[in-house]
Amino acid sequence: MELNLEQITLEGVSTERPMLIAGPCSAETEEQVMETARQLAENGVKIFRAGIWKPRTKPGGFEGVGSVGLNWLKQVKRKTGMYVATEVATAKHVYEALKYGVDLLWIGARTTANPFAVQEIADALEGVDIPVLIKNPVNPDLELWIGAIERIYNAGIRQLGAIHRGFSSYDKKIYRNLPQWHLPVELKRRYPNLPIFCDPSHIGGTRELIQPISQQAMDLHFEGLIIETHCNPDQAWSDREQQITPEFLKFMMNRIVIRDMAQTTENLADLRTQIDQIDNELLEALARRMRVSEEIGIYKKEHNITILQTTRYDEILQRGVEKGSKLGLSEAFMRAFLEAVHEESVRKQMEIVSK
Ligand code: PEP
Ligand code: MN
Repeated sequence: MELNLEQITLEGVSTERPMLIAGPCSAETEEQVMETARQLAENGVKIFRAGIWKPRTKPGGFEGVGSVGLNWLKQVKRKTGMYVATEVATAKHVYEALKYGVDLLWIGARTTANPFAVQEIADALEGVDIPVLIKNPVNPDLELWIGAIERIYNAGIRQLGAIHRGFSSYDKKIYRNLPQWHLPVELKRRYPNLPIFCDPSHIGGTRELIQPISQQAMDLHFEGLIIETHCNPDQAWSDREQQITPEFLKFMMNRIVIRDMAQTTENLADLRTQIDQIDNELLEALARRMRVSEEIGIYKKEHNITILQTTRYDEILQRGVEKGSKLGLSEAFMRAFLEAVHEESVRKQMEIVSK
């Protein structure tokens, strides 16, 4: 489906990369919201985020202050001039947020994964003109992410954006949520006009990772960043380990290098031509290999020989891995590559035998 989008326009907010949204994971108290907002505004931040309703993994955790926090956001607008943003997960959240003048809404990762919930939000947004950002679903399913974007688009929202917040996994090592950069990159390839924000806080899960992840997002030409920031991170009521102070945010943003895409592309053009040429050669060689393999298939059929000759396959695998290692190619790569080639050869020979 084609998306005819409009640029996200908030008067006074520069459209230059990165568009920055910052603020606490959750609105906790009036003091915490106002103090964080004051420090952020002082450092030039224009869009303030705060969760009012928090989706928690288990009951009993802090589930957000609810509508009372919307008054604090209103006050942030009045006192600092910043725009305010919050997460909505139900139609009621949408009505409440709109009633209190919230300027930008986002849909959380758990909500994006549920088409019923997204549709309910879409219905509540019918006829409203407000920017909406859609986080990736918790599971790495690009179509589900796009489906949610389409539902909101179909409600008439044109100022749309996506937020990449990583994908959950059972085995958490470095990241809280695996970045799997190829997913947002593919989204960008399909919808070049859809701005993508990176949420390094939920990807990283720790303070040290916020800056390197943000830099990576900028190098991939993402349009924006949404970063959890708290006036006293160690005392935060949710996502304590990943929140940074407004002061550190400023320090970090000053160190992020924004590279110019046009420039990079020009310098890379020559190398890319070489890659395209090598890829062509590889494809032709692969096609030649498959033709020989088909001839073997015909021979096997005529002489009643089974297709799968495991000793021969072992030999190919071992020889390939050894040779690859001499050429600087990793064993894992060689195995994956040779297995894929072998699988396709067998498939082709089976076709011949069954004819
Ligand atoms: C959040 O932004 O605080 C949040 C709950 O994020 P996510 O939906 O990405 O888990
Ligand atoms: Mn959070």
